[in-house]
Amino acid sequence: MRMPIGRYLELLLDACADDGGGVADYIPELAAADPDRVAVALATPDGEVYAAGDADLEFTIQSISKPFTYALAIADRGLDEVLESIDVEPSGDAFNEISLDEATGRPRNPMINAGAIAAHGLVEGADQDERDRRILDFYSEIAGRRLRIDEAVFESELSTADRNTAIAYMLRTVGTLEQPPLEVVRGYTRQCSVAVTVRDLARMAAVLAAGGRTPSGSRVLSPEVNRQVLSVMATCGMYDAAGDWLTHIGIPAKSGVAGGLVGVLPGQVGIAAFSPRLDEHGNSVRGVRIFERLNRDMGLHLMDAAEVAPAVVRRRLHDGIPVLEVTGDLRFVEAERVLRTFAEEREGEDVVVVDLTHVHHVNDVARRLLLEGIRRLNADGHPVRLVDPDRVLGSAEAGTGEIVHGEQPRGGYVPDRYEDAGAATRG
Ligand code: GLN
Repeated sequence: MRMPIGRYLELLLDACADDGGGVADYIPELAAADPDRVAVALATPDGEVYAAGDADLEFTIQSISKPFTYALAIADRGLDEVLESIDVEPSGDAFNEISLDEATGRPRNPMINAGAIAAHGLVEGADQDERDRRILDFYSEIAGRRLRIDEAVFESELSTADRNTAIAYMLRTVGTLEQPPLEVVRGYTRQCSVAVTVRDLARMAAVLAAGGRTPSGSRVLSPEVNRQVLSVMATCGMYDAAGDWLTHIGIPAKSGVAGGLVGVLPGQVGIAAFSPRLDEHGNSVRGVRIFERLNRDMGLHLMDAAEVAPAVVRRRLHDGIPVLEVTGDLRFVEAERVLRTFAEEREGEDVVVVDLTHVHHVNDVARRLLLEGIRRLNADGHPVRLVDPDRVLGSAEAGTGEIVHGEQPRGGYVPDRYEDAGAATRG
């Protein structure tokens, strides 16, 4: 079978053919970009990439670098230290506003240039070269290929970087920059000049969608850092259009003046679009259209509340013994439903069988709630027999004096199916 998703992306580009706006021209080299190019890519956390249009065309990452450098700064310095230098409030200002928050003296967020230049300066490195190298290595690792810097765009932007230089001196006067401002502007401009394709950006976004893991499963960002970055993208990623974007499209995103746009749907996909003409906020006109359309077709709004599984637990009697069969993935809400079923068991001496054969994943909160429920059932006098062949509860102590795991439940009662479940893990 041919996957229908690639074809869908081609149709999506056709549907978003109308263009408007103009290419960024404050960086001379960007003014030379072919404005008619357009591309889109979608990457899954396990590494599948679908793309259409000019998907192998390189362009400079520009401001889409900001969330990734911010992530590296937090990983290096810890969140508290980074928050002391850079706030997380949407500014409503243009991306290159020369401003600090009046009350705190900090840049308002890491997605505008003031915050991004400060974040760049917080990345560790013995000198600017090492800082530059670490940033490029990090982007390359999450993109899944060795990236390079577009030297022509770099030189071009550096020769006209007066505004960013003003911002860096301003940061230096309030004590936010440890290094000489010109050095940091140079490094920040190099970070913005990394050449990427939509495939690279979709892969980078998919790592954030996967909570900070690459498709091979290696962890590049802690869940806390990842969450911080996505939160800031959601509230500040689209500059002065951020509120409109979050309500309308509902995907944490970041745009760049070369025409790139990435979006991350946590737990699901990374998306990237490219088209050089920009609207008045500095966001790609067709990129925004592509996201609007994708959102409408695929239902990708972050605030669309996930449907709660209608039945996560079923109680039935087997030879007079209650069997609580749990199904699906368990998070807080689902675990609460299971606990309610536990609570309905009348106090007594009866064995209760809790069958987790059809549970695939239990998050940490659900796991603790379930173990607490089992402990309480035990305390009420019910010997609990747990069937957990895949060890979704791990090897945790349930407070029953016995370690809970996937082995055949001990005790007199074991229906055939449970014997099988136990046998599967005994061997
Ligand atoms: N390098 C650009 C700048 O600092 C990035 C801006 C952007 O992409 N919005 O001006």
